[in-house]
Amino acid sequence: MDAENWDLIVVGGGPGGASAATIAAKAGLNVLLLESGDLMRHKPCGGILPEITEELIEEVFDSMIPSDVLSEPAELVLRYTPPSGEVNGGRVSNSRLFNVKRDEFDQWLRNCAKDSGATILHGARVTDVQFVNMFSVTYVQNGKQNEVSARNLIAADGVHSLVRRRLIPNASAPKMLVGQRLIKVSNEMPADFHCVFAGMFSPFYAYTVPKGDSLKIGSGMTEDERLDLMPSLDRFSDWLQQNQIAELGEMVLQEGWAIPFGEPIVTAEGALLVGDAAGLCNPLSGEGIRLAIESGQLAAEAILESKDASPVENYRQAIAGMVRMVTALHKIVLATDDDARENFVSSELAR
Ligand SMILES: Cc1cc2nc3c(=O)[nH]c(=O)nc-3n(C[C@H](O)[C@H](O)[C@H](O)COP(=O)(O)OP(=O)(O)OC[C@H]3O[C@@H](n4cnc5c(N)ncnc54)[C@H](O)[C@@H]3O)c2cc1C
Repeated sequence: MDAENWDLIVVGGGPGGASAATIAAKAGLNVLLLESGDLMRHKPCGGILPEITEELIEEVFDSMIPSDVLSEPAELVLRYTPPSGEVNGGRVSNSRLFNVKRDEFDQWLRNCAKDSGATILHGARVTDVQFVNMFSVTYVQNGKQNEVSARNLIAADGVHSLVRRRLIPNASAPKMLVGQRLIKVSNEMPADFHCVFAGMFSPFYAYTVPKGDSLKIGSGMTEDERLDLMPSLDRFSDWLQQNQIAELGEMVLQEGWAIPFGEPIVTAEGALLVGDAAGLCNPLSGEGIRLAIESGQLAAEAILESKDASPVENYRQAIAGMVRMVTALHKIVLATDDDARENFVSSELAR
């Protein structure tokens, strides 16, 4: 086979791309994964994985999550506070979450894909994609432009997906903006992923995640309310201190990114979209790593099942349940006010 012609090109090496590349390479396909970031590229994230992700990771990557990609504390419990305050909040029983160091975790996933036989190029930024009988992909690496082609293309290039924008230029892809700060703390933090539901912080929720001697705090906003994103983190910091939850010190990092917040789009001109590129992120919780791994797996399996035919219909069918779930949750989030948030927390804590 011509070295520049692949069975499958995967654009993006986050959880979605690494998953798709691993499954396809394990089955013997000749897979090229193009990742614009360098080794250990940074992704703004809380790094929270629900317990059930463990099983999915073992299924796709044939390995347990290694301890060196876990933060301190490695496991957390889910804790909710409703708009009425701490007095009505508490820990969700039987909740168990993994607390990962996201950059190390993603690098480990890409290494798994490589060990499965996929070719992984870091620092390879895709600049154009065209489809004429085959997918033709242009990327730039070390200042040099390269062309590669493939029968199959998976777009796993995240919430701002270039592949989606190239193949369906007019598609609307609304987003929720998420701001995060990493702040040193002088008190000992409980091993909680603490979600605080109150319209004064966020139409979604504000959260804290302990990371070693620091605390990650975050909050989400709609695109219309983007100017209130960082002020909302100031309000949330004040609340954490006033309620004697955290003694906040020096800020180590402040960053903003987005998660998809609209109807999923899972195919484009014969290409399969996975994870954030497809809009497959839980709009209620902001959880997207598990959905990216699962959609990457389903996309690769659809390609394998379809052999020489188009995988579009197989993938659409396989992903339909996840699309329905994200669409339904999206409607719930839009209709949420503080009364609904109060009811949500009280019913979750009563379970
Ligand atoms: C602040 C914040 C906190 C979050 N916290 C959590 C959490 O705690 N738990 C959780 O489950 N989810 C969380 N999410 C959501 C989660 O991060 C995403 O849903 C998840 O990363 C989606 O994975 P993905 O593989 O689809 O995309 P990504 O992880 O975004 O990966 C896309 C990859 O594509 C690469 N890329 C982009 N463009 C190109 C290009 N042109 N050429 C080549 N490569 C390209 C990028 O460098 C990147 O590596 C959070 C999101 C945000 C913004």
